[in-house]
Amino acid sequence: MTTLTSSTWDVEVAVDAAAETGEGPLWDAEADVLWWLDIPGRRLHRYSPCDAGDQVVVLDRLVGSIGLRARGGLVAAATNGFCALDPDNGRLSSIAEIQYDEPDLRMNDGRCDSAGRFFAGTMAFDARPGLGSFYRLDRDHTVTQLFSGTTISNGLDWSPDGGTLYYVDSPLRSIDAFDFDLDAGTVANRRTLVRLEREFGLPDGLCVDAEGWIWVACWRGGAIRRFAPDGSPGVVVELPVSQVTSCAFGGADLGDLYITSGRRHLSPTQLAAERHAGSLFRCRTGHFGKPGFKYGG
Ligand code: CA
Repeated sequence: MTTLTSSTWDVEVAVDAAAETGEGPLWDAEADVLWWLDIPGRRLHRYSPCDAGDQVVVLDRLVGSIGLRARGGLVAAATNGFCALDPDNGRLSSIAEIQYDEPDLRMNDGRCDSAGRFFAGTMAFDARPGLGSFYRLDRDHTVTQLFSGTTISNGLDWSPDGGTLYYVDSPLRSIDAFDFDLDAGTVANRRTLVRLEREFGLPDGLCVDAEGWIWVACWRGGAIRRFAPDGSPGVVVELPVSQVTSCAFGGADLGDLYITSGRRHLSPTQLAAERHAGSLFRCRTGHFGKPGFKYGG
């Protein structure tokens, strides 16, 4: 285990994976493992903290995010829609295909809500503006488009009471908030909660902790930043890499903050300076996550 000194906390390298774009960290409390993805590398990782093992299966298409499934296995936001993902062999089988209006789209970040639905958004492979949408997958496999016009649909999570959905469309440089109707699974009253300074990089994945504060990964910003529910800034976890992509709380007490990163398109000079780019990191901040939910379909 390599320990790196952050400005405030010790950040450990949990897995020196050299992922192209590490993403989608997801704590599985029953299995005591952290699932995570390398999206362009088409790999699903299963990191076990008890023995520091990291098992990898290769996927036959891009998967942008995953969720736990109540019946076992994973639900995946794959290139063309929602799939069941067997983590033992990486096999993907369709739950619901999405017919895109435009070609060259793929699904990106997603998460389960407390009612057992799975939500994920899309983006163009080349990130052309405004082509993405945000979808809800119900337990009966029905797909509903909640809104469109996004560019890089990215991090999402709910407030602890489930009444607010936080959401990132990365090029907007903002964390937005919606009123969330838990019964209907619908969103309303979108507003900008946080606008990131340009030097902080682009907001990417996010998670909400047990106190309701938001932790957002800052891609090309080399940090995770914490914000209060009113948008005021809190602590910063600095990483020794620039492409910080997402974060999730894990561990028996949900006090381990796992952080994914990437190395895609870094120059040889940058790679030499960022020896751990693409690693999975871990840090204890004294803050704790909230339990996650499973897809019920
Ligand atoms: Ca992302």
